[in-house]
Amino acid sequence: MYTEKINFMNFFYNNNFVSRVCKIIVSLIIIFSCLNVQAQNYPVVKAQKGDGIYSLLRRNGLEPTKYIKTFISINKSKLGKNNSLYVGRNYCLPLAGNKAEVVRAEVNKVIPHKAVAKGNSLKTIVYTLFGEKYQTVTIKDHQLKGAIYYLVGGHGGPDPGAMGKLNGHVLCEDEYAYDVVLRMARCLMEHDAKVYLIIQDLYNGIRDEPYLIQDKTETCYPHDRIPLNHLARLKQRVVIVNKLYIKNKGSYQRMLVVHVDSRSKKENIDVFFYRDKRSKTGKKMAETMKNVFHNKYDYYQPNRGYSGTVSSRNLYVLKHSYPTAVYMEIANINHFRDLQRLIIVSNRQALAEWMTEGILTDYKNCHTQK
Ligand SMILES: [Zn+2]
Repeated sequence: MYTEKINFMNFFYNNNFVSRVCKIIVSLIIIFSCLNVQAQNYPVVKAQKGDGIYSLLRRNGLEPTKYIKTFISINKSKLGKNNSLYVGRNYCLPLAGNKAEVVRAEVNKVIPHKAVAKGNSLKTIVYTLFGEKYQTVTIKDHQLKGAIYYLVGGHGGPDPGAMGKLNGHVLCEDEYAYDVVLRMARCLMEHDAKVYLIIQDLYNGIRDEPYLIQDKTETCYPHDRIPLNHLARLKQRVVIVNKLYIKNKGSYQRMLVVHVDSRSKKENIDVFFYRDKRSKTGKKMAETMKNVFHNKYDYYQPNRGYSGTVSSRNLYVLKHSYPTAVYMEIANINHFRDLQRLIIVSNRQALAEWMTEGILTDYKNCHTQK
């Protein structure tokens, strides 16, 4: 056995051609295994004060003894002495199985999209996707009772969308779009609407901070991993919206898609709207929403003027989705003044409230005209 091994090794070292081929194969294996690690797209979580690997894993629905080894190996470079965690730093979570089981475990625990009535009054619901601070929603009135909304934050999961920079922070489109979407969802629910968050993130609720940290933990309703491929990603959200649309047939249903644009540094944009060219109801809704913005600007910034527009555009999500849809771009991520709309929390909230006002008016218009 021993001598055989020596001979075998000698054969390798002496044979130039074979050794070269072997080196290539070994390099290829290394390259592929690296690619594999990158392609995994681990969910990312932030370590909190007092966190160790055990508590972090447990909080995210992972059995520590089972996943500690993998956790250490995928986070090696980010660990401190004795594998300690740094507060505020992002860590990758091991994947439990092939699909988003980590996420699923959480879903089972919190049931985020089935709002739970609290106490004996039906006026308060708990919706955990909004995060601890905002999860309790009080239904103020029933103006949107019976209306159904599909809210779609642009991009998400492995795709951050457009990226901008401010004060040393990298700002990602998907995080800001999602925060505005969450705020819109909450406003709509306050009027008793039924809301489906098509893109959702179990790890981020409504965030009252200027700089939203980029992660890849967004999933697609009900809790599917978002693919990296552009078309597959869009198709996934359209397919689920259409499925739900059929299920809810007969109700007033609308889809709202929120994006942040990326243009040249010089170009500041007002919130503007797209709709599918064939959709009259989409046009009407977008016009209604635009008018709300127009009025708000006239009121709050009378000398500024508002130049947002409604136009038709050949966009996959508009073209292929069944419900009437409005697609909005809320800022240019490269423009300093536009960024104020994104990083100032009260501005994100105002955006959501103004959108809601437009949405409410559209619903009323549709019901009084019939
Ligand atoms: Zn986008």
